[in-house]
Amino acid sequence: MKSRESNLIKIIAIGPLIFIPLFVIAIILIIIIEHEQNFEKTLSKVEENLINIEKKAIKSKIDGISDLIAYQNNLTVKKLTLRIKDRVNTSYKIAVNIYNKYKNTKTQKEIESLIITSLAPLSWNNEESFIFVLDYAGIFHLAPSYLKHLEGTSIINFQDANGRFVIKEEIEIAKTKKEGFLWDKFTKPSDPTKSIYDQVVFVKALGFYNLYLGSGEYLDTASKISTNEILNAIQKISENTSDYIFAFDANGNILLNDSTPEYINKNFNNIKDKSIQNVYFALLKSIKNDDNKFSRYSWINPETNKEEVKYSYVKKVPNTNWIIGTGFYESTIKANAAVQVTKLYEDYHMRISYIMTIGFISILISLVCSYLVSKYLKSQFLKYKNRILNKSSELKQLNRSLEDKVKDRTEELERSRESLEVLATTDALTKIHNRYSIMNILEQEIRKFKRYGGNLCIALFDIDKFKDINDTYGHDVGDIVLSDLSSFVNNFLRESDIIGRYGGEEFIIIYQNTMLEDACIVSQRVRKGVAEHKFNENIKQVTISIGLVEYQNDESVDELFKRLDILLYKSKNEGRNKLSF
Ligand code: GH3
Ligand code: MG
Ligand code: MG
Repeated sequence: MKSRESNLIKIIAIGPLIFIPLFVIAIILIIIIEHEQNFEKTLSKVEENLINIEKKAIKSKIDGISDLIAYQNNLTVKKLTLRIKDRVNTSYKIAVNIYNKYKNTKTQKEIESLIITSLAPLSWNNEESFIFVLDYAGIFHLAPSYLKHLEGTSIINFQDANGRFVIKEEIEIAKTKKEGFLWDKFTKPSDPTKSIYDQVVFVKALGFYNLYLGSGEYLDTASKISTNEILNAIQKISENTSDYIFAFDANGNILLNDSTPEYINKNFNNIKDKSIQNVYFALLKSIKNDDNKFSRYSWINPETNKEEVKYSYVKKVPNTNWIIGTGFYESTIKANAAVQVTKLYEDYHMRISYIMTIGFISILISLVCSYLVSKYLKSQFLKYKNRILNKSSELKQLNRSLEDKVKDRTEELERSRESLEVLATTDALTKIHNRYSIMNILEQEIRKFKRYGGNLCIALFDIDKFKDINDTYGHDVGDIVLSDLSSFVNNFLRESDIIGRYGGEEFIIIYQNTMLEDACIVSQRVRKGVAEHKFNENIKQVTISIGLVEYQNDESVDELFKRLDILLYKSKNEGRNKLSF
């Protein structure tokens, strides 16, 4: 019990001191392990992430440049249409001026001739672009120098490369809308390959003689002017960044390439370096189905002059046949990754030492806290223990006093019981057994006799002429005689003989284990003693008459008393102061 209690105190005192710091250490360990795992995951992803970031970067760069080119092209078309419209409007003003000036003085033929003469010299881009004049019947009034032979004839059935009746369309515009644009496709007189080019045409009705004039220009020619501007702009962009941009067109013309500048303006179909040519083929093939694509291939790194793995992003610029792209070398990423990993390691170590510091402080705090907690628990425990001990000693004391009280009460009860028993079995006047008690004793003796055998004698005596004593000396004297006689007879008897008051002035004597002869002797002595004793100075003599029997086996108490009565009666009859047996 004692050792169990001391173990409990130990647990309360040391338990928190061990478990709380252990708990804190466990948490810190979990944090560190988690951190370690995350760190390893991050490490393994560094290169992959950098490649993805770089891919995103080059994609957004190329997409941006592509948008820029698209915008520039859009601008080119806008500028082109404005330019043509402007030319046509200027020519229109010249023609209308001439008409207004001479319409009243000159003939139609003369005026037409004046207009043609003044507009004929207007041409641009080495006569690629010019002003033409036709009428609604399709008659060519002013044609460029290379179509001069057609002047005066109708070209109403003229078709463009797509088979469209473009003159009919022009007449329709002039007739209905007065002016308007028209896109068609034609070969270029300057191009011997007879390639087809987009051309924009603006026509305007002159408003007299059913004439209209117009001018056209090849988009390609206009684009060429802006192409150089765009290429210069891209070049500037690549100069400002670490990565270069390459560009080529669908026909294989290399427009821009920093790593192999010697191939610029050449067609890669014709270059000798097969490895470079193959990359171009591959890049071109890669965007055949998609308009943009990432590729991975080997290419000479101009910085190291070695063939290295390279990632590229190529994109077909919308509405052009240009393909632009850029790329990066895996070695650059690996170098960057190494730098990043070093930084991550530094970061990681810093964070781990930070966690360790925090952990150490936490352990210290938890130690202090757990010390305080265990101290508090211990003190509480001891307080409760003392309280319980106090209570238990109080209880013990209470118990003891209760026990004492119970003992006292029991003794008191025993005394009461004893005195009650005495009261119940003793005759109040004579202080010998009363009738109830002596009859009980007699029954006990009979039972003993029946069980053990032996001899049992009983005597019944009655005071002779007692009435006279009462009558003569008074009842009080009678009482004194009764009392004195009882104690007197009792003194005469042996230790084992028992006397009791049977009623009034009649008494019983039980002789235990006594034969009739001995009982006779004792009875005679009693009778004689009484007769000789002087009980009161006034009373001469008190005598008693006695009946004595020996108990017969199986005799009832009634039968026994019947015999005793008879014998007592006999003693009385025979003159009193007698013993009959
Ligand atoms: P006998 O010799 O025939 O017995 O004559 P006796 O006068 O004794 O006659 P009996 O036995 O009939 O009368 C008994 C008397 O004893 C009657 C009664 O007044 C008296 N007595 C009985 N009990 C007491 C008692 O307790 N005190 C006193 N003073 N007298 C008692
Ligand atoms: Mg009597
Ligand atoms: Mg009598």
